[in-house]
Amino acid sequence: MRPTPPPDYLAGYPPALRQQVQDLIEQGRLADLLRRRYPRPHAVRSDAALYGYAQELKAAHLRNAPPLGKVCFDSRIHVIRNALGTHTAISRVQGAKLQAKREIRIASVFRDVPPEFLRMIVVHELAHLRERDHDKAFYQLCLHMEPHYHQYEFDLRAYLTWRDATGQGLWPVSAEPAPRGDA
Ligand SMILES: [Zn+2]
Repeated sequence: MRPTPPPDYLAGYPPALRQQVQDLIEQGRLADLLRRRYPRPHAVRSDAALYGYAQELKAAHLRNAPPLGKVCFDSRIHVIRNALGTHTAISRVQGAKLQAKREIRIASVFRDVPPEFLRMIVVHELAHLRERDHDKAFYQLCLHMEPHYHQYEFDLRAYLTWRDATGQGLWPVSAEPAPRGDA
């Protein structure tokens, strides 16, 4: 029983694909499929490491875009609450960005995901340095930085759907929240 309906992470996708994910979850097969495709979590374990990671990607692909201020994981970004349920809008809230300071904030659910999913969300937020809207130019830029962008995004959304259904993560590295000095 579910007290509230879960957010629809796959809202922008064709019914057949959505059904496929639902079937895999009900048959208990999605976790194995995802683990086989993405065996390991990434090794970006701190905000400093995340900053370096984003800088490296930016230097390789977006050298002339505005400089990055801060890049960090942010536990205040709640993927679940903010999920808008559309293909194009949800990514905006998974990693919110403060335009003026060129800050990139990545929802803390991305602490414990495979490198491919982290790359997808960082690519997404970097692309916003140049393209504000989720339009064709924006996704062209995402694909330029990561040719498998769309596959990773779909698999991430399938994972988030599974995670909501089961209440567990597939790659639990930081199960215990790290102690923080700031509020
Ligand atoms: Zn976005």
